[in-house]
Amino acid sequence: MATLEAPPMPLVLHQGPYTIEPMIDFSTEENQRKMRAALDKVRAELGREYDMVIGGKHSKTTEKIRSINPAKPSQLVGLHQNAGAAEVEPTMQAALQAFPAWSRRSAEERASFVFRVADIIRERRFEFCAWLVFEVSKNWGEADADIAETIDFCELYAREALRMSKVETPAQLPGERDRLMYIPLGVGAVIPPWNFPCAIMAGMTMASIVMGNTVVLKPSHDAPTIAAKFFEVLEECGLPAGVVNFCPGSGSTFGDAIVAHPKTRYIAFTGSKGVGLHINQRAAEQQPGQLWIKRTILEMGGKDAMVIDADSDLDAAVEAVAQAAFGYQGQKCSACSRAIVDEKVYDEFLAKLKPRVEKITLGDPAENANMAAVISESAMNKILGYIEQGKKDGRLITGGGRATNAGEGYFIQPTVFADIAPKSTLEQEEIFGPVLAVIKARDFDHALEIANDTEFGLTGAVYANSQEKIDRAIQEFHVGNLYINRKCTGAIVGAHPFGGFNMSGTDSKAGGPDYLYLYSQGKSVGEKLR
Ligand code: NAP
Ligand code: MG
Repeated sequence: MATLEAPPMPLVLHQGPYTIEPMIDFSTEENQRKMRAALDKVRAELGREYDMVIGGKHSKTTEKIRSINPAKPSQLVGLHQNAGAAEVEPTMQAALQAFPAWSRRSAEERASFVFRVADIIRERRFEFCAWLVFEVSKNWGEADADIAETIDFCELYAREALRMSKVETPAQLPGERDRLMYIPLGVGAVIPPWNFPCAIMAGMTMASIVMGNTVVLKPSHDAPTIAAKFFEVLEECGLPAGVVNFCPGSGSTFGDAIVAHPKTRYIAFTGSKGVGLHINQRAAEQQPGQLWIKRTILEMGGKDAMVIDADSDLDAAVEAVAQAAFGYQGQKCSACSRAIVDEKVYDEFLAKLKPRVEKITLGDPAENANMAAVISESAMNKILGYIEQGKKDGRLITGGGRATNAGEGYFIQPTVFADIAPKSTLEQEEIFGPVLAVIKARDFDHALEIANDTEFGLTGAVYANSQEKIDRAIQEFHVGNLYINRKCTGAIVGAHPFGGFNMSGTDSKAGGPDYLYLYSQGKSVGEKLR
């Protein structure tokens, strides 16, 4: 057990400015061989049981969470503990106990810990990718994007924390030493989704601890194994007991109770709009013994649009829409679920899009198909419900149902509907699956109006050649992440700080220069010189 007296950890401080982790080039034979070897290694480890870890102590619960392979639902990926009401208080106490010592570690020590985590994940890159292939049905490239983003978050946040530890006040009063210190908040509840189950889980956790907070980590019940693997890395790096407590459990019971706990200081959540709003409301109620206004960092859903102007590179637009709509089966908060196309090129756009989408291969992500399974049976049924709605509200261009020939898993055909009307269900609601609504606009003005007509405001893209139209889109397209002449998915840490407007969240801008302020509070000290 680590205490205040724990010896300082050896420092590993990466030098130089933050640089983006390069992606693995899977077109080379060597990398294909490494990936297949990693898949074999992980395949041999499927079905193992993982502990819950509270205050450094490993334990088991009677109830279990079964994480399965969505592409082969009979295959158990990992067996996990299921934290419930009985675990709430011990977990909070462990995180509270760890807080004084961890919060007093220097910024260098904490950053060094996070740099070491990045180093180990970089070494185990292929293996981490392989876990995502089995647990959440990502193909190789999608899995690698998730792991590269994980490394990026570590590398950026460690540097940012060091920068913030050296901030100076804009002015010094004569005869005083004036300082501004970003001190930690306390115990944070970290509640990630399953769709970027490594990057988002790790990003919110590393942001928390690099700033000196301690964490109750409740991974998604659909993706606890990759979180357990990440937690193993934290332990390998010498994580002091209680600094991160690993508690797989259900959101509506354990998650809800942790959010409501009077000693929870903040909640870092990424997930759906409904759950985010519920957490916000729950966190706003003062509990007996609660001394602070809980901070909520909430990143939620989207109904992201790509606007295609009449004067644009239509081939490039079609390619980008296909990738953004169907990459990872459309299960990205940034996924393109609406293509809003000027009527002058509408028919041509559809004529080009249909064969492009029909080229998409569907199958086992271990064999690196373009598209694999959606996360669960319930997700599949929900998406199929939207597809039935689409058949009533629009014109089916391609797809339109389950893809049973792809395997026993939860495979859905990439589906495109044309002639979807503004304000209809398919134009307004987040589907979170491989379903694209194509909408006809009278002109560019009308297209922007449609793009802005949902309650969300996460990502968006515009394909246009006219600089005037591009400038108008930059002014008027109300989203947290806007892209011009490129797809609306694939935000890169550092280059595209990420977070949405309106019902898409609190615009926290993960991977940006302001993000870590959310995990700290500024203490201003004016000291009279003696
Ligand atoms: P979700 O159903 O809202 O769940 C997110 C997390 O919240 C899970 O860990 C879940 O636990 C937990 N949870 C559920 N109910 C809770 C409660 N009452 N109190 C506390 N925690 C609770 O979302 P998801 O299906 O995992 O992820 C998909 C959604 O995330 C989409 O809407 C997507 O747009 C959004 N997303 C947004 C961003 C962004 O940056 N804006 C990024 C990625 C994803 P369990 O599920 O384990 O019960
Ligand atoms: Mg699973």
